[in-house]
Amino acid sequence: MLGVGVGLALAVLLLYCVDPASAGLYPACPLHLLTGLQCPGCGSLRGLHHLLHGEVRAALGYNVLLIVTLPLLAWMLGAWAMRRPAVVPRPLGIALLLAALGFAIVRNVPEESRARWALPEASVGFESSRADSLPAP
Ligand SMILES: [Zn+2]
Repeated sequence: MLGVGVGLALAVLLLYCVDPASAGLYPACPLHLLTGLQCPGCGSLRGLHHLLHGEVRAALGYNVLLIVTLPLLAWMLGAWAMRRPAVVPRPLGIALLLAALGFAIVRNVPEESRARWALPEASVGFESSRADSLPAP
């Protein structure tokens, strides 16, 4: 157990000191390498790096799902370390799986389309700016 704790502490120290965005030290996501798509975990290391530096907004920008679920993950890790069952209630587990699936889908939709869905006024601006750039008939 001590070895796992020391290993985790060293990993956190490494993540604090070495920025995953600029170092080729960390493994790349296989799904992203093969398809160009982002999985629910993409951006986790970069997000955690920024979170360790107190840059919450940047961390949320890299992977909001991880940052929001971090307290639950920390609780599960703590329960595991204390050799207690980390039982997540079934409805919460299902909700988390659906959230991860939805997050994976939404983050792979082009930003212009997301803005159109989320902010109707943004789509008006987007369309009007496109209409302005079209040649007059
Ligand atoms: Zn990924």
